Amino acid sequence: MSQQETDQQVENDGFVVDTEDCEEREQAYRARGTSRPITVVGNPVLHKECKDVTEFDDKLAALIDDMFASQRTAEGVGLAANQIGVDLKVFVYDCMDDEGVRHVGVVCNPVLEELPADRRVLDESNEGCLSVPTAYAELARPDYAEVSGQDAEGNPIRVRGTGYFARCLQHETDHLYGYLYIDRLSKRDRKDALKQMAEGTPRYEVVPNA
Ligand SMILES: [Zn+2]
Repeated sequence: MSQQETDQQVENDGFVVDTEDCEEREQAYRARGTSRPITVVGNPVLHKECKDVTEFDDKLAALIDDMFASQRTAEGVGLAANQIGVDLKVFVYDCMDDEGVRHVGVVCNPVLEELPADRRVLDESNEGCLSVPTAYAELARPDYAEVSGQDAEGNPIRVRGTGYFARCLQHETDHLYGYLYIDRLSKRDRKDALKQMAEGTPRYEVVPNA
């Protein structure tokens, strides 16, 4: 616990500093954690809103450690708790933005901030998801995102990101409300993504659907 209490410092303007000591912090989390298999589309835990985090205790810290370990094993840049089968609103990330800056952090109970229309510049890039293994599709999303929530100790935090990291923040928040990126695709593109998944073989362990 003591390690994590200093993990997330807050800048003057209220946004978390998630760009410092990334390697050390990420390594400490995953060294304590155990990698778990990833749930895939069709598993009910991915298709409903997760429960709010209310206990900011050692059990939550252990879950976060496991999430970092699982994220690394599956070579993801973000992971939501329901992707390892846990019905709780927590996501972790280890993601580069479009300036090549690495961001590492944790958000509990995330809420995506509504952006003013003039900040909603859509970026149409490729997106993929560990829970839809081997599939990718282009999806337009705002290229800037702000998320408010809590850290692992329950302190209020805000996280912001640009480019690919903005996409990650939106994607992971969606997960915790029961949405996959393929739910935002056209019927045709969704079908194509599921076809890619059916034809591919994940490079990491997944939870078979019943
Ligand atoms: Zn995902």
